[in-house]
Amino acid sequence: MTTKADTYLLENNVNPSYQRVKIMEYLLRKKNHPNIDMIFNNLKKEMPKLSKTTIYNTLKLFIKRNLVSPLTIEDNMLRYDADTKIHGHFKCINCGIITDINLDLKNMNRDELPGYTIFEHHVNFKGRCNKKSCNKKSFNKNKNGNTNWEKSA
Ligand SMILES: [Zn+2]
Ligand SMILES: [Zn+2]
Repeated sequence: MTTKADTYLLENNVNPSYQRVKIMEYLLRKKNHPNIDMIFNNLKKEMPKLSKTTIYNTLKLFIKRNLVSPLTIEDNMLRYDADTKIHGHFKCINCGIITDINLDLKNMNRDELPGYTIFEHHVNFKGRCNKKSCNKKSFNKNKNGNTNWEKSA
């Protein structure tokens, strides 16, 4: 697996330092759209000298070389995706899992943007997933079972 991330970086003119290879390996293997903290917590045991700044700078380089896309699905922090093909994302607001969705952009109507050049695509959906690991009880945060909506009605 090391060889794969190695080669991938070399092919894209990125010097495959140990840290860069490890971070790219994590992104390719996990496919979990991690934020910097998730990468840090996963790799710190193996790499005690790793800092969040290094991760940040590495991701910045990967983005520059189009090896990684930043996701805008979170309000307050960036998440990162090693899948740079155009696709959308679904985020479960209960368990936080982010799932990839295929997008059919060829059939999208772009007549409203005549001659415009598009550099980025972000298509985000939020809702609730149906995975068993998603604890549905925590979705209803109000202990009385009353939602704010009911109170205001
Ligand atoms: Zn969920
Ligand atoms: Zn994705």
